[in-house]
Formats: sequence, C-alpha cells, structure tokens
Amino acid sequence: MSEENLPRFIMCFCTGECPGFAKLDLWKLINFVRNELDVEYAIVHPQLCVTDGDNFWRDYLKEGDTRTFVVGGCDARMQKKMYKDIFLEKGLDFDKHVVPLDLRNMETSEAMKKVEEAIVKLVGE
Ligand code: SF4
Repeated sequence: MSEENLPRFIMCFCTGECPGFAKLDLWKLINFVRNELDVEYAIVHPQLCVTDGDNFWRDYLKEGDTRTFVVGGCDARMQKKMYKDIFLEKGLDFDKHVVPLDLRNMETSEAMKKVEEAIVKLVGE
C-alpha cells in the first residue's frame, strides 16, 4: 500500500477527563501507533462528538477521499451515530471510511493490541 493510502489514526480522548480512559497512557499509545504501525500518521482530538469536533471533521475530510480513518474512542455504534452525518456531507460513507475502535476501560497494552490488529487487518502484516 502506498504511503498516501495508509490509514490515519485519530484518537478521541474524551476531554482527558473521562474515567473510561483512566488506565490508558495516551502518549504511549500514540507514539506506538505512529512509530510502529503502518499508518500515515496519528493524531489526538479532545472531543470529536461536539461542535469543534464537527468543525474538525468538516475541515479535515475531503470529498472523494479514499482513505480509511481508524478512530480510537468510545463505543463503535456511538461513533457512527455522532460522525456519520458529517461524512455524508462530504459524500463519504462512514462504514467504508471509518474503523471505529472502542478503547475504553483498557490498559495501554490492550489498546495497543486492538489498534495493531485493526491496522494489520487493513494493511496486512
Ligand atoms: S466521541 Fe466518544 S470518546 Fe470521543 S469525546 Fe465523544 S463520547 Fe468521548
């Protein structure tokens, strides 16, 4: 897979105050993903499901985009509910472009493994 088609990892860290992420070392996870996995890059957003999160998606997504976004955060169905309309605005189908991962209530090593499995599934070993 060419560099420009590698998945991008976006971690939604739920303001940094959510008890669901209390066991997760955010920077250890992000540095693992960006340095060890086949992603174009990895970024953190503080709260994707509120107005500035919508603004971020609207600014960030491009019509005709072919990339996959692996999004760490809360429940996968909740993520779909909260982001799908912005994807539709850009003519993109959430289910085709997003791999939502629920990383709540996990130790950092468990979250790293879950993200790694998702990226390997997309890109191959
Ligand atoms: S999208 Fe989910 S993980 Fe992100 S801020 Fe909202 S509730 Fe928290």
